[in-house]
Amino acid sequence: MRWRDIGESENVEDRRGVSGRGLAFGGGIGSIVLLVIALLFGVDPRNLFNSGDSGPNDPGARVSSPANRAEDELKSFSSSVLASTENVWRDVFSQNGRQYRVPKLVLFTDQVRSPCGLSSAAVGPFYCPGDEKVYLDLSFFNELRSRFGAPGDFAQAYVIAHEVGHHIQKLLGTMDKVDSMRERMSEREANALSVRLELQADFYAGVWAYYAEKKGLLEAGDVEEALRAATSIGDDRLQREAQGYVVPDSFTHGTSEQRMRWFRRGFETGDIRQGDTFNIRSP
Ligand SMILES: [Zn+2]
Repeated sequence: MRWRDIGESENVEDRRGVSGRGLAFGGGIGSIVLLVIALLFGVDPRNLFNSGDSGPNDPGARVSSPANRAEDELKSFSSSVLASTENVWRDVFSQNGRQYRVPKLVLFTDQVRSPCGLSSAAVGPFYCPGDEKVYLDLSFFNELRSRFGAPGDFAQAYVIAHEVGHHIQKLLGTMDKVDSMRERMSEREANALSVRLELQADFYAGVWAYYAEKKGLLEAGDVEEALRAATSIGDDRLQREAQGYVVPDSFTHGTSEQRMRWFRRGFETGDIRQGDTFNIRSP
């Protein structure tokens, strides 16, 4: 993907390094104990609870190791992909007489607190409708490559675009509608509805890719990278790896084939009206 010319988004919140272990003490007894120890030893307690961004103005915060440089590159990349989704969705929304409200991208390490609760990086990237933010631990991209066998920058871009797809669903009211329907359903029905929501997010990722292609951002092999990612993180595949068998009723993301098909549909049409995964018999 030719991402370097896009420019970086201003809507990235860097909570790496502070979100994980810091949280273990967040409030409660832990912080009181820490505070007491700090006071005993004459440490400025503000240093303990300093959880803001450690930006370039904070000289003590960065040690320029190769690992950090690789992560910084991933941060620039993610921020550029986010900027690209902002450009695309701003255009698509205004074409439809609406205004796009941009989501924030929160980078974290290990675990993170959001209105959606305390989440471990093990759940993978996610979107929290409560604060309209996408949460991403950059180490997921390693996992995507090594554990899920989906290498390539466009596989990573697809993951971000999928989460932004959930934000589109929030803005269009689809997410609220689905949430209120889910409350009145059996678990099996609720899961089936979640699958449709996930497949539509894949479709929106495809719509984004359609415009990214038009802007000349795609390189040879990029679409295949995205499709491989969609395949590799389908529920059937994940479950087979984890349990050795698949249980269709507990699918919440869709099968590999479904995810690929809806991404491709978005990519080929670029038309948000083609993404109604809800009003068809089998998505
Ligand atoms: Zn999703």
